[in-house]
Amino acid sequence: MTEHTLTVAGVAVDTRHWIGGERVASAETFTDVSPIDGSVLGEISRGTAAEADLAVAAAKAAFPAWAATSRAERARILHAVADGVEKRIEDLAIVETTDNGALLRSHRRGVMPRVAHNFRFFADWLLKLDHEDFETRGHTNHVSWDPAGPSVLITPWNAPLMLSTWKVAPALAAGNTVVLKPAEWTPLTASLLADIAAEAGLPAGVLNIVQGYGSEIGDALTSHPDVRRISFTGSVPTAQRITQSAAANLTPLSLELGGKSPLLVFADADLDLAVDLAVEQYDNAGQVCLAATRILVEKTVAEEFTRRFAEKAAVIVQGDPRDEATDIGPNIHERQLEKIDGFVRRAVEAGARAVIGGHRGEGRYYAPTLLTDVAQDSEIVQEEVFGPVLTLQTFTTEDEAVRLANDTRFGLAATLATGDRDRAARVTQRLVAGTVWVNCFFVRDLQAPFGGSRHSGVGREGGTWSFDFYCDLKNTVTAPKGWKDHG
Ligand code: NAD
Repeated sequence: MTEHTLTVAGVAVDTRHWIGGERVASAETFTDVSPIDGSVLGEISRGTAAEADLAVAAAKAAFPAWAATSRAERARILHAVADGVEKRIEDLAIVETTDNGALLRSHRRGVMPRVAHNFRFFADWLLKLDHEDFETRGHTNHVSWDPAGPSVLITPWNAPLMLSTWKVAPALAAGNTVVLKPAEWTPLTASLLADIAAEAGLPAGVLNIVQGYGSEIGDALTSHPDVRRISFTGSVPTAQRITQSAAANLTPLSLELGGKSPLLVFADADLDLAVDLAVEQYDNAGQVCLAATRILVEKTVAEEFTRRFAEKAAVIVQGDPRDEATDIGPNIHERQLEKIDGFVRRAVEAGARAVIGGHRGEGRYYAPTLLTDVAQDSEIVQEEVFGPVLTLQTFTTEDEAVRLANDTRFGLAATLATGDRDRAARVTQRLVAGTVWVNCFFVRDLQAPFGGSRHSGVGREGGTWSFDFYCDLKNTVTAPKGWKDHG
């Protein structure tokens, strides 16, 4: 072990940046702490504008060769990255769990295999990316996806490697080079990804990773004139800041932001299914952008729904995320817990009633909470809490359900529980949401467009939409042979 390595359950993680195919240390560091027990995991290089510039320069230098690399070769290397991820699923899972507190069993069986799938999917999609040529008065139109250039990718802590690779994989597949800035609360798996990518043969400078606080390194990345794309997942205030910073160079942006999504439960729904869907919203301790945190229930079934919900929620196991039996781990940070508690206390002061929870647990845990008697215009209904806190409101008509569902500044997702397919179609059409789930939740396919409306984001990624974002689209019009002769 060197002074630049920490270990998590025996897994060595380099604590420096990864720039131009080399490890680079900063003069300063920041401390990485596990939310499980507050233990210090190590000191991480604390990036500044100097390292941001270095990383963008490396990405710029590597861009021409990577952009000129054949699709087949890019796809081959991305599959090799996926192989590397699959070989290290156990390492990645334990490191991620220790760093962000989400469940080990889901990292092992769900999340990390999907990280590998992110690379495979976009490698395969690249190979079939095509648009049929078409004719205009005998001239042929040919559409091509030209790699746009160095891309800055900035990601949050709630699903660190999953969300990072959702961006890294399509950006690299498109032929762009990347500077990834993971969240400062969860820097570790990105560093392992650098090792995996290097081993897979990704050329130096194609993927660069800089660590540090967004407030210290962010502007230098997002205002850099050599950066041609910025893809950001995180909070609305940071997105606003990044948008201003990117304006200097008119750098195209993709923004995946917060939500306050509704779960609409109609009286004709399978009530057990609806209750399961509602309880599922506590997953990852409520730290899920897509979570349907506003439960809207038709009045005639509200009492029965609430009774069954409380019964089901009572058996949720909160505890160490490394234990197989645990359903919900800790929240990420003391600051986040204070924020959650503040939301709940102010809601209760304003007249809300806690059906369950409503208080902190031991350490970094917050009791799963359901609040009723909440006003539509209240803070707890309008603002994203990002913790295990749900609200319950009732409605009497379909119109009222739609009105309540749409009445926030967000538009990320919506979930419906109904036994009536016609109703599902009617309501879906009226909802403002990037994704609507009918009688299900969290079914995600990388082919689908993903993103939010209003303050939940700008743009869509997934399938061809990702390539549209990461590329400059070009249409080439070629005249037919001898066109001059034909006038
Ligand atoms: P955040 O905005 O505080 O931080 C996100 C990232 O931005 C971090 O890497 C941070 O270092 C960086 N950052 C901070 N200031 C910056 C600046 N001035 N310039 C550039 N980068 C900067 O968000 P968070 O608390 O880490 O994440 C939680 C938020 O993310 C929630 O609102 C959640 O809903 C949202 N989220 C959205 C999605 C989605 O796909 N829509 C997915 C997950 C999380």
